Amino acid sequence: MSTGPGRWNTIARAFRALPVLVTNGSMTDASRLGSHTAAPPPAPHRSDSWLLWHRLSRGRADFGNPAAFDKRVKESRWESFTVTAEDTAFLDALAQFSGRETGRGGLMTFTGSNWLITIVAQPQPVYRDQPAGVSVWWGYGLFPGRAGNHTPKPVTMCSGREILEEILHHLPFDEAVRARVLRTSTVVPCLMPYITSQFLARRRHDRPKAVPDGSVNLAFIGRFAEVPDDVVFTVEYSVRTAWTAVAQLLDLPEQPPAVYKGACADDGHERCRPFLSFLASASLRGRGSGQGPQVPHGGRGALAAVDPALLRRPVVCTVRSHAFVAPGGRAEADLAGSASRPSGGCPSAGAMP
Ligand SMILES: Cc1cc2nc3c(=O)[nH]c(=O)nc-3n(C[C@H](O)[C@H](O)[C@H](O)COP(=O)(O)OP(=O)(O)OC[C@H]3O[C@@H](n4cnc5c(N)ncnc54)[C@H](O)[C@@H]3O)c2cc1C
Repeated sequence: MSTGPGRWNTIARAFRALPVLVTNGSMTDASRLGSHTAAPPPAPHRSDSWLLWHRLSRGRADFGNPAAFDKRVKESRWESFTVTAEDTAFLDALAQFSGRETGRGGLMTFTGSNWLITIVAQPQPVYRDQPAGVSVWWGYGLFPGRAGNHTPKPVTMCSGREILEEILHHLPFDEAVRARVLRTSTVVPCLMPYITSQFLARRRHDRPKAVPDGSVNLAFIGRFAEVPDDVVFTVEYSVRTAWTAVAQLLDLPEQPPAVYKGACADDGHERCRPFLSFLASASLRGRGSGQGPQVPHGGRGALAAVDPALLRRPVVCTVRSHAFVAPGGRAEADLAGSASRPSGGCPSAGAMP
């Protein structure tokens, strides 16, 4: 094999033809599973995905600043849990309580919950091989460091069963249902130290450009690469970074389309404004005092709490249905009715964390 400069040119060309796409940082890195009987172990101090980005960016301002995202775990962590039950007792009781068939009710947040629990009952089966009669649902607590209302400790220190007991504390199920749910369910908690790291306050250049200026074979993809105009978090964001990287590095004619800002952007979001302020006030009322608008229990009755003037206005944003459950198990506000009004505008504001 030749050892002259020609060889090095060949190698250089080959490397240039082989772009390296780096997923810098990860919202799920260092996640830890617990079990029905044990809390998740503490997250490790070292986290490989972040370490890689730290090493790459050493001395390279154009490679971003990972410390803006991985150094504030108390702000970026939350805990989720997945429940597998041998029967449908919980989902049936939830459907009866909410007035929504399983899978049609969207997210349900317990506004009086110290952990700020949200649960999600998706259409069954959730998994392709899920046996008939088995049900699966999941949820999360956004404030995992606080003591629970029923369980006097942070969710991070709770076993799956203790989390389930806390959830049942917030729901007005009768004792027989409660006992059955506890008997037939297995809950696996998952502590995710970096799950909302992409939302932490940051400076403009903390995320590197998908293709740093002057780069011919290296790009950054995923939630910590910069995409002007787009909103971080979704699968689409990551796909856009990868598309941008491949199209630019390989000089392809097909670049990603412009970020769609929604029909409501045309009128400066004027038409969305009343609805969005309603959303903000509903959730603030619920979180601040635990006392939301008092509405009749059950689904659509909650719309009685909304200023009728708002409902007459066209709602442009599509917002996922999301119910709020006040202390004592009152359905506080079910946004599904208003949220599912004709849309075609903004991306889902209620997207799943
Ligand atoms: C609970 C939850 C709910 C979500 N809900 C939604 C939703 O409803 N809608 C939506 O659009 N998005 C949702 N998301 C976000 C969505 O899942 C992510 O944005 C998407 O998966 C990101 O894809 P990705 O390929 O960029 O990164 P990932 O899916 O994280 O893939 C990156 C891969 O790289 C690997 N990796 C990282 N670093 C290294 C390394 N140094 N060496 C080797 N391998 C490495 C990781 O292990 C991982 O396999 C949700 C995420 C979570 C956690």
